[in-house]
Amino acid sequence: MLSTASPAATNVVSTLYDQHGRPLEYLRLAVTDRCNLRCFYCMPEEGIKYMPKHELLSYEEMLRLTGLLATMGVRKVRLTGGEPFVRRDLVPFMERLAQLPGIEDISLTTNGVLTAPHVPALARMGVKAVNLSLDTLDRARFASITRRDELPRVMETFYALLDAGIKVKINAVVMDGQNIDALIPLADLSRTLPVDVRFIEEMPFNGGSHEAGPDSLPWNHVRIRQHLEQHFGELTPVAMAPGATASDYSIAGHQGRVGIIAAYSRTFCGTCNRLRMTAEGGIKTCLYDQGVLDVRALLRGGKDDEEIAAALAAAFRFRAANGFEAERQRPLHQLSFESMATIGG
Ligand code: SAM
Ligand code: SF4
Repeated sequence: MLSTASPAATNVVSTLYDQHGRPLEYLRLAVTDRCNLRCFYCMPEEGIKYMPKHELLSYEEMLRLTGLLATMGVRKVRLTGGEPFVRRDLVPFMERLAQLPGIEDISLTTNGVLTAPHVPALARMGVKAVNLSLDTLDRARFASITRRDELPRVMETFYALLDAGIKVKINAVVMDGQNIDALIPLADLSRTLPVDVRFIEEMPFNGGSHEAGPDSLPWNHVRIRQHLEQHFGELTPVAMAPGATASDYSIAGHQGRVGIIAAYSRTFCGTCNRLRMTAEGGIKTCLYDQGVLDVRALLRGGKDDEEIAAALAAAFRFRAANGFEAERQRPLHQLSFESMATIGG
């Protein structure tokens, strides 16, 4: 039960559970839909139609919502986008976020192009881990996947994070015919450096249509694991943290781990503890749903904290059991998926 007093005022924490017994603990906050890369699996070459600025949530609005969610059990916030560092004044916003009562862990997912100069500030505010998206170590291939020649700046961020003692988790999307030859060199980084490297099944989320199911995916989690094992020998499973999406493995002699995220096969829904907020204030209780609450309309319509908290709680409580059910519940006219840059990954 939610407190009858204003939750933000009292900071009452009572963890919210959905109807399938999963707790709400983690918020993925897309701070912008804009990006300085054009990864072909995420956006068309000409980019997506960006929201006008006034339609994006302001930092004040994000702080208010995150504060409310903290009273409902959220402990961890990940900033994503679009590219988070494309939004001005991200670091001061993060510093304020870190002050919110109840928020224990702030992290971010970044493409690394603009990140290096901000690494000392991230370290100072206690950011412990950063997810760095990196699909290949080859400059020409990087440029063809992202349509921008920015690998050197991404690598600068990679080494700046390591030097600052911030844990680096590399996210690589596995793309048939594009970066399969990059998987072993990427995984091999975990041998000589204390980094985790996670391979993500490619999802058909580039603003295009979405017709085929997971069975049609050329590189699903099973094949990715077989590919890694052919090179490294048997991968030893590591116990998954509650709510984790990656199946992690250790490799003998490696400092870091490798992981596989079955994003399209959706093997991890049973323990999903997260909620997503899009840059324009849409709430998604599953990556595959169509957006279940327009929280910006509530904020800008003058609703008080209690009313907004009740709407968030109702949205979370009645969420789909898994990504397949969420997908089936989408209205027919919404069967083509938005770009991941609006969802935040
Ligand atoms: N721009 C930042 C970045 O790339 O790290 C944050 C936003 S991006 C949408 C978040 C994550 O989603 C990235 O790791 C990216 O590789 C992943 N992603 C985007 N489109 C995807 C797709 N179609 N399939 C699988 N992963 C995808
Ligand atoms: Fe930008 Fe990230 Fe999408 Fe690439 S995956 S286009 S870096 S938002």
